[in-house]
Amino acid sequence: MACLLAITAHPDDESASFGGTLALYARRGAGVEVVCATRGEAGRHRGQARTSEELAQTRVREFQDACRLLGVTWNQIWEYPDRGLERISLPDLGVRLCRVIRERRPEVVLSMGLEGGLSGHPDHAAISHFAAFAFHAAGRRNLYPECGPPHQARKLYFATAPAPSPAHPEICLSPVHAEIDVSETFDLKVAAFQCHRTQSPLFARLRRALDHLGRREYFHLAACAAAPPPGLERDLLSGL
Ligand SMILES: [Zn+2]
Repeated sequence: MACLLAITAHPDDESASFGGTLALYARRGAGVEVVCATRGEAGRHRGQARTSEELAQTRVREFQDACRLLGVTWNQIWEYPDRGLERISLPDLGVRLCRVIRERRPEVVLSMGLEGGLSGHPDHAAISHFAAFAFHAAGRRNLYPECGPPHQARKLYFATAPAPSPAHPEICLSPVHAEIDVSETFDLKVAAFQCHRTQSPLFARLRRALDHLGRREYFHLAACAAAPPPGLERDLLSGL
């Protein structure tokens, strides 16, 4: 069965950025996997946590609860610094992600967008650069033999939208190539986001952002191992 691997920066990105899509493909029996690079310890909203380590531990549990609800079949959460991903080097995080792609062998890789996604967060931008590097490097026979046999995933998508959110009108988004109808899993997406209880002050803002998008998630096709499909895609696994 086909496998999608989502590469994110913070616990809650998996739900907010493409939770509906992850849940949809999980329902259809696909492998749905998530690697999150940080434990979100620098979040502004901190729940009852007294220290950054306490917040990190709580957010790891929230992430795992959200993944369970979405039907994620495999996940890892790493300990890179929240609000510090742009200071991490390619030979570190990029090559580590290359190893994950070679081990997990997904057909589709998802990440958040080189502009930083709808919120323009620098960690979102950084993790997307690392994801793109890893997507390409994992397929090259001459690179990183220590990371295992090469694997070229078929497509790399970034989350995007037809227009910037009203909260961030300055963001220059990537063009939409795929539109996924997530009506069927929309409630699950909202419930998964709400597993991130420390982020409860953001729940109302997320609802407003989702109202802006309708029950759709949008993707930019950033790389494709074969000829890109013509027209607007409505299935990320089409042609695979
Ligand atoms: Zn985030």
